[in-house]
Amino acid sequence: MESLRNKNQEQQMDELRAKVNVCKLCRLCETATQPVFGVGSVSAEIMFIGEAPGRDEDLKGEPFVGAAGKFLNEMLEKIGFQRSDVFIANVVKHRPPNNRDPLPDEIETCYPYLKEQISIIRPKVIATLGRHALNLFLPGLKISAVHGQAKRAKGIYSEKQVYFPLYHPASALYNNSLRQTLIGDMMKLPILLKKIKAEV
Ligand code: URA
Repeated sequence: MESLRNKNQEQQMDELRAKVNVCKLCRLCETATQPVFGVGSVSAEIMFIGEAPGRDEDLKGEPFVGAAGKFLNEMLEKIGFQRSDVFIANVVKHRPPNNRDPLPDEIETCYPYLKEQISIIRPKVIATLGRHALNLFLPGLKISAVHGQAKRAKGIYSEKQVYFPLYHPASALYNNSLRQTLIGDMMKLPILLKKIKAEV
């Protein structure tokens, strides 16, 4: 039964990937090398959502493969996960030119793809990386005030989706105090997941 669900999820994700591969709905596809769809398990319990692909990601077609990605991988290892255990995606699928912030209309245009990814995976926790991902789901919250605190809110497939706001790994790369904060927050994730699983 479980493997049938996984197969179905794989198939749905492949169909969605095919749509994203030919997406021309916003200007970002004009300057990007390729879309960066997302990577990981279609039945992941934790989904990480970053901001947008950078240069390395644009060239490789995979999220978080540069310096911030290396740091993310190290933190995942610390909590006993590999990239293949979780799903990693971004708010927008194409790289904004010169790594500028994604514009509101670009975020809005790309949101249906992210929503569909979430509906397929049905993660128990959505860990947002940075303020763009945080404010897409929980508008108005300040990352400095809510990082490391689980928030329950109406989600894509659940009335009580659990969001877990985290600082963006890139912002913590060269700031030691933010780095320690992010690592500390990340360490809370397995405990949170265990708690959620014990509820059902
Ligand atoms: N920063 C992001 O937000 N996403 C990536 O994929 C890489 C860097």
